[in-house]
Formats: sequence, C-alpha cells, structure tokens
Amino acid sequence: MSEKAKKVTISSRRRFFTDVAYSGGLGLMGALLWGGYADKAKSSPLTLRPPAAVEEEDFLKLCIKCGLCAEACVNRPANIDKETGRAKPGTLKMAKAGDKVTIGTPFFTPRDVPCYMCDDIPCVVACPSGALDVEKVTNKETGELDFKMMNMGIAVVDTNSCIAYWGIQCDACYRACPLMDDAIKLVYDRNERTGKHAFLKPMVNMHSCTGCGLCELACVTEKAAIFVQPREIALGKPGDHYVKGWDKKDQQRVANRAESDLTTHDKRSEKKPEDYLNMGVEY
Ligand code: SF4
Ligand code: SF4
Ligand code: SF4
Repeated sequence: MSEKAKKVTISSRRRFFTDVAYSGGLGLMGALLWGGYADKAKSSPLTLRPPAAVEEEDFLKLCIKCGLCAEACVNRPANIDKETGRAKPGTLKMAKAGDKVTIGTPFFTPRDVPCYMCDDIPCVVACPSGALDVEKVTNKETGELDFKMMNMGIAVVDTNSCIAYWGIQCDACYRACPLMDDAIKLVYDRNERTGKHAFLKPMVNMHSCTGCGLCELACVTEKAAIFVQPREIALGKPGDHYVKGWDKKDQQRVANRAESDLTTHDKRSEKKPEDYLNMGVEY
C-alpha cells in the first residue's frame, strides 16, 4: 500500500471511530436527556387516575407501567362494538410524552371517554402491583366489589357557564349520572329576577360522587360546565393544625402527638394568664 493510501485508510479509520464515539456520545446524551425529561414529566395535579388508585405519591412508586388496567378496560365486553367486533377506545390511557402525566402511567379524560363504573371493575382486578387497591372498592361487610366506592375524583359545577343556573332547562348531566338523585340532584330555586320562573340547578353530593365523568361527557355546553377534578383539588385541604372535634381520626391524631411535636402556640395555651406577666417576648 502506498504512503498516501495508508494515510487515507488511517484517517478514514480515525473518522469511523470518532463518528462511533460521537454518535455513542450523542446516544448517551440523548438517553440522559430523555431520562431527565421522563423524570421531570411529572403529572399535572389535575390528573385523574383509574378507580381505586392509591395516593398519587404511592401510586407513582407502585405502578410498574404494565398497562394491564388499560388493557382490561379496553377489552371489557361492553366496550366491544357488536357490529364490527372491534374494541372502542377504552377509558384508561397510558401517558405519552406531552400528556402532562408521568409517562407510562394510566389516566383518563372524561370528556373523551369517561369511566363506565363496571360492576366487576376489571381494571382494578387486573392490577398486579397494588397501585390500584382492590380493598378500596370492596365492601367490608359483603366482601364483594362495589363500584359505588370508586373515588377517581369529584364533579364540580361551574355555575357561571352551566345554563341551568341561567334559568334554561337542562338536565343532561343529571340524567347521565349512574347514581342519579344520590351523587347529583336537581335543586329547585326561585328565579328572583323574573319572579315567575324556576331554576333547577344540578348539585353534586361530595359523599357519593365517584368522579366517573359521565356527567362531564354529557354536558351540552361547548366547554363542559360540569367537570371532574381530583378530590383534593376540588375540595381543598385545611392546614394540618386544624382539628375536627367530631372526627375520630383527628381525635386520635391529637392523642398521638408527642410532647416534642407541640408548637409554641400549644405550649403557650397551657400557661395560666399570670404566667405571662413580665415575661417580655420569651414565651
Ligand atoms: S371501571 Fe371504568 S376504568 Fe375500570 S374497566 Fe370499567 S370503564 Fe374502565
Ligand atoms: S395495572 Fe397497575 S401497575 Fe399496571 S399500569 Fe395499571 S396501575 Fe400501573
Ligand atoms: S362524576 Fe358526575 S356522573 Fe359520575 S357520579 Fe359524579 S355526578 Fe354522577
């Protein structure tokens, strides 16, 4: 081989290894970037999880992203089109990039496909990891599955855009609810403006609403005036220092508090008024 040919071969080999190293580097960088993105692609707080999902923090630790819940949902007999024999889109979707939900985890969007509150709750039964906890939907007395115990969220009525609150007769959400007259009621109210018309306003019972979203799908307004939100978002959360005297869990919480957990405020309230005399700011 001539000197020139050797140089060309060596330089093409070098270029080959540089290219391999470069593309390997890019691949590694891509993997790191993707890993970082997947890690950062946290779920929006408005994400609705499947029935019987455990608390979000635990759900993310337990869910192995196997998709068995979504598969059980799409293949349930009621979801198979009788004419074509094909499955319609299921309720549960596995999150992809751009969904604003942790990638690979199941969620649902009621305005697209709500949860049909299946009697046999196949999605929960299929979950192998405990991310969907069958105990949460099992009646302790009968030992049977009870779809009324589902807790995906709670429906919220936007009283500004719900046309029933304008005085127009509409009961689409009420009629769509599988727990009609329990989870949702139409409440009569007098229309003071006209003096002769009545309102029939949909109102949701937070104790019975499961968050299935059938009402959201049925709503006739362009953007649903009734929509499901996770319970903690819809109902809010008081500070941990508030105690409900009538709530057994709260009473136990207070009884369990160690002396070291007491706040300055608690300790201050143990003092008698005369203890404060001449104490300056040293409580
Ligand atoms: S209960 Fe809801 S989410 Fe579960 S399988 Fe039935 S329709 Fe799907
Ligand atoms: S079946 Fe359970 S573990 Fe599998 S994706 Fe669904 S929630 Fe996650
Ligand atoms: S989400 Fe709507 S349809 Fe479902 S139980 Fe609640 S009020 Fe009824």
